[in-house]
Amino acid sequence: MTLAPPPPSGAAQAARQILRRLHDVMAANTNAQAKLNQVTQAIGEALDSEVCSIYLLRDGLLELYATRGLNQAAVHVTKLALSEGLVGSIARNIETLNLDEASAHPDYAYRPETGEEQFHSFAGVPIIRRERAVGVLCVQHAASRGYDELEIEALQTVALVLSELIANAHLVDDAASGTQSADQSPQQRSGLKLVDGMAKGRAVFHQPRIVIEHTVAEDVEVERARVYSAFTKMRDQIDRMASQAEFGSGGEHDEVLETYKMFAYDEGWSRRINEAIDAGLTAEAAIERVQQRTRMRMRQIDDPLLSDRMHDLEDLANRLLRIVSGQMGTAAQMGLREDAILVARNLGPAELLEYDRRRLKGVILEEGSLTAHVTIVARAMGVPVLGRVRDIRQIINEGDMLLLDAGRAVVHARPNMPTIEAFDVQLRDNRERRERFAAMRDVEPVTACGARIEVMMNAGLREDVSALDLTGADGIGLFRTEFQFLVSATMPQRERQTRLYRDVLDVAGSRPVVFRTVDIGGDKALPYMRESAEKEENPAMGWRALRLALDRGGLMKAQARALLEAGAGRTLNVMFPLVAEPWEFDAAREIFDEQRAFLVGRGKKLPSAIRFGVMLEVPALAETLDLLLPRLDFVSIGTNDLTQFLLAADRADPRLADRYDWLSPAILRFLRRVILPCTDAGVQVGVCGEMGGRPLEAMALLGLGIRRLSITPAGIGPIKAMVRSLDLGQLTPFVTDLVTRGTTPIRPALEQWGRDHGVELGL
Ligand code: PEP
Ligand code: MG
Repeated sequence: MTLAPPPPSGAAQAARQILRRLHDVMAANTNAQAKLNQVTQAIGEALDSEVCSIYLLRDGLLELYATRGLNQAAVHVTKLALSEGLVGSIARNIETLNLDEASAHPDYAYRPETGEEQFHSFAGVPIIRRERAVGVLCVQHAASRGYDELEIEALQTVALVLSELIANAHLVDDAASGTQSADQSPQQRSGLKLVDGMAKGRAVFHQPRIVIEHTVAEDVEVERARVYSAFTKMRDQIDRMASQAEFGSGGEHDEVLETYKMFAYDEGWSRRINEAIDAGLTAEAAIERVQQRTRMRMRQIDDPLLSDRMHDLEDLANRLLRIVSGQMGTAAQMGLREDAILVARNLGPAELLEYDRRRLKGVILEEGSLTAHVTIVARAMGVPVLGRVRDIRQIINEGDMLLLDAGRAVVHARPNMPTIEAFDVQLRDNRERRERFAAMRDVEPVTACGARIEVMMNAGLREDVSALDLTGADGIGLFRTEFQFLVSATMPQRERQTRLYRDVLDVAGSRPVVFRTVDIGGDKALPYMRESAEKEENPAMGWRALRLALDRGGLMKAQARALLEAGAGRTLNVMFPLVAEPWEFDAAREIFDEQRAFLVGRGKKLPSAIRFGVMLEVPALAETLDLLLPRLDFVSIGTNDLTQFLLAADRADPRLADRYDWLSPAILRFLRRVILPCTDAGVQVGVCGEMGGRPLEAMALLGLGIRRLSITPAGIGPIKAMVRSLDLGQLTPFVTDLVTRGTTPIRPALEQWGRDHGVELGL
């Protein structure tokens, strides 16, 4: 917040004049209809427009409530559905329209009773209450002209003030303004699984709505001082949060909070709020005004990563609004009294952390994405999250019973008894299974015939690493270093990378950690690295991973140095992703050698040993593997990508799920073809794709000669159980025969074999 505010701009002065008139209108002792009539007059005069109209949402229709310039006979007669006309489009999409020829717009609907055919240009803005459009304010001119930004700004500001007037006068239905769902029947909604798990609890709305009592400022300087002190308080809170980070320092949390800090101290944001105050709004209304603008912009943003970051800004705006209005209570601050499922449009990670973990059982979001900070934090907290449940806040009320099954991507609201009973059985099964597997933590994965299998885990965040102790994994077989880059608002500097790698190694102790160099690009675009986000026809086969890292040598150099420094005095395992040809491995390795030489020159301590390996995920590498094997310490087969490339079946496309089959003869034969030369050459070979985390598929891999798996932590218990019930002496010839013949449908044959031989496959 700048200490000395700049003089109000021309735009602000114009808006302030209009607001002053509106203030008088609202204070006058007249009824709501008279006030609306006066508002249309005031705006019409101020903007010099022939028509100014207000439509309000009643009984699901947008009703013409007041107008200057259209036929008065049309008032309360003209009604438009949300799917109808320009007005419907504005309310439906919560968007602004600015048209020099209204009738040319595809949504234009002509209503003869209004007499509007003589007016060509049109500008309209939504009147928003509780994030929903409850009406539309529009102006029209006979001449064909576009409206300038100043006029649109003025309309938007007036719309905000109108929302206060409308609410106070109860002019729109409560249901329309999103207060209560009248329906009490059981409901089921589906969404997108963000964090797996099941939960049962009462619906708690994260944000009891903040009611903005007054929108027009009595004294601009008083409002400025209020917002200034709120900014100071909010910055203190964020700084305090950073110093008390829940997961210790150095984790992704720091990066999340760094983003918050960046926004909290962002001059542009505070300037925009200041400008809205200059225009004559109260502190609350000014914050809301800027927030509305942000939301509108967010709706047009197609880039999920960027919109996640925009969400962080909104989280802060809500915090600021709560401070300035004195309505401090989020549900977290008021405390959860029973098992709760939190419901929100979206949530910031810092907000999530404020909840009592013992009572918070699950989260449902109307928005949300897999890469959002809040998802990452929830995963670390072990709280299931279902995202993209559209309009959930419309269909449920506070206190409703909710059953959340994130794995199946559904939520039941107000369930009936049979649904509750069935859910309870599943919940109990789930819990028992988890407890049984947790009890296997200290049990070694040794087969019935005495072979020790290495069962390692995949990780990518600092918080994930604690699963090493919880699951008893043998180490980390795949540490996806790009996750740090993905959760960060800016490119993580080398020191931050070093800190993370060192922390991970510290937690792992004597257990090995395999660091995979960044697999950025494709679907893992970085918002702050524009070229990584450029649209590609086939992103999975595009400019990603080692290709990008070799082309942008600086990135790779910094990461190499960070890894070498973090690994000082210990064994460092480095793995390169998406290697297609041996020269790529050599080029990457050379960067490490250079950095090692540099550190030697500086007298720095080096790792006691460095082991280099490749991910085998591009089929082409199989053709030259024999040439590369002498230079490798290990090979890790990335079956996620490998399968999609071998079968030409996009791993993320649900329509191809049946074709993307790890147990197809082609995949198993291919795997055998690459596993054999590795074992013959004495090069360690493992699998780090999701395939290894499924008992049946993992059994097939063991039958093909794999002795090292790196899998998602939740899979470790079930895989250990499978391993301990297995006799490799019997399995190996069976799998060899199955794969050599290649004709039998393999999945049922393996399942039958497992059943016949008492293998714990969890079928
Ligand atoms: C793989 O492709 O199998 C793999 C483990 O890497 P990612 O899933 O990160 O692409
Ligand atoms: Mg991969």
